[in-house]
Amino acid sequence: MNILVSGGAGFIGSHACFELLDAGHDIIVFDNYYNSSPEALANVEELTGKSFKIYECDMLDRASIEKIFEENTIDAVIHFAGYKAVGESVAKPLMYYNNNITGTVILLETMAKYNVKKIVFSSSATVYGVPETVPINESFPLGVTNPYGRTKLMIEDILRDVCVSDKDWSVVILRYFNPVGAHASSKLRENPKGIPNNLMPRLIQAAKGEVEYLTVFGDDYPTRDGTGVRDYIHVVDLAKGHVKAIDYIADNKGAIEINLGTGNGCSVLELIKTFEKVNGVTVPHKIVERRPGDVAECYADPSLAKELLGWSAVLGLEEMCRDSWRAVMYEA
Ligand code: UDP
Repeated sequence: MNILVSGGAGFIGSHACFELLDAGHDIIVFDNYYNSSPEALANVEELTGKSFKIYECDMLDRASIEKIFEENTIDAVIHFAGYKAVGESVAKPLMYYNNNITGTVILLETMAKYNVKKIVFSSSATVYGVPETVPINESFPLGVTNPYGRTKLMIEDILRDVCVSDKDWSVVILRYFNPVGAHASSKLRENPKGIPNNLMPRLIQAAKGEVEYLTVFGDDYPTRDGTGVRDYIHVVDLAKGHVKAIDYIADNKGAIEINLGTGNGCSVLELIKTFEKVNGVTVPHKIVERRPGDVAECYADPSLAKELLGWSAVLGLEEMCRDSWRAVMYEA
């Protein structure tokens, strides 16, 4: 298929571009490089030996989005573009609503105008809010705790409404758990601009000595060692899930929500220990207060992905730690 990838230069987007090309699809990418750089796409071209059209454009710019649809025959869209930092979303909610919501509406309107009615959307386990139990399946109640999460849930709702209004649409909403790791070549990786928020990039900063120590947010949660438990998933597995989702929307109409996680919970201290063991480094760390808004445990029931997409994660925690570190060292 001919797939338009929004936000294709980002961490997950660039890995998905690689897997789509590797699976024989053709891609067209647009990105405004707000939190990414063109280099990732150049690396995708180098790794695959395939070239593709890249548009530097913002999804709020309707004329530029229309131009992409005018100039290409597009079968489906994978929509990664969006702001994603929880703390920033609390400080700048209007910026988040304008970019993520208005941008998506413009994209969907343009798709409808050009009769492109297949979309895979990059959602997040954040839409489950504070889950009552784990593992989390797709029918759990939804609830969000910050503007970033709200944009994900609002976009999910918009997509479900579009499917009710027009039965020709095919929508797969992928709810990601905690993506980490990097491509085996080390040429694609997470490269956050500014101060990172997530555990793995912060852990790496501590391992490199860029910060004195990693702050571990709380050790008094009701978990096996008191630290927060998450479902870390290798970004290569996650990217492959998008190829499966594209196969699925080719044959199915309506909207479906699917978790992409491993189903295994891992605590902050377990992640630190695995990282130290696999990479032979020390991660200085210090227990501090809980971070407001954090939940104790969050991990997926990934059985629907297996049933509907024939997908399950194959890479484990050791590969995630090894590949994250190797990609950072490769660059150094
Ligand atoms: N965490 C931590 N120190 C950090 C960043 C995160 O202890 O510097 C913990 C956080 O409390 C949570 C886990 O690591 O238990 C994953 O946090 P992250 O922000 O990566 O993902 P999310 O909380 O959104 O699932």
